[in-house]
Amino acid sequence: MSPESAPPLWHYTCWHSRRQIGRSGVLHPGLDGLLWATDLPVPDRAGLGLTSHLLGCDRAEYRYRIDTPDRFARVDVFYLTASPYHRVWLEILANAPDARPQHWWVTGWDAVPAHLEKSPWVPTGAAR
Ligand SMILES: [Zn+2]
Repeated sequence: MSPESAPPLWHYTCWHSRRQIGRSGVLHPGLDGLLWATDLPVPDRAGLGLTSHLLGCDRAEYRYRIDTPDRFARVDVFYLTASPYHRVWLEILANAPDARPQHWWVTGWDAVPAHLEKSPWVPTGAAR
């Protein structure tokens, strides 16, 4: 089976990160060393593991369109060449209740270009 080419991908984030990235900019891996994206055009917080990491922080408040989706692999493909550390981490995440790993796309690349898109849903936060 040939590698699947990436569909349109989005990265959801909170207002802290949106402020750092700007309207268009580059995305960086998180503390886990991975940069996450999804093929879901509307966020599913539980399914994507986008639960709050800080009080009052909605990690699906803003939507970025990934400019270079081909740098990403679907998580099951990424898993095959992942480090042992990342394999354990990916298994923990995939076993979370309500997880939908079939919609997870991952890269180890740094500085992936993306641009802010208008959210098709009403933001939960106050205007910032
Ligand atoms: Zn935040």
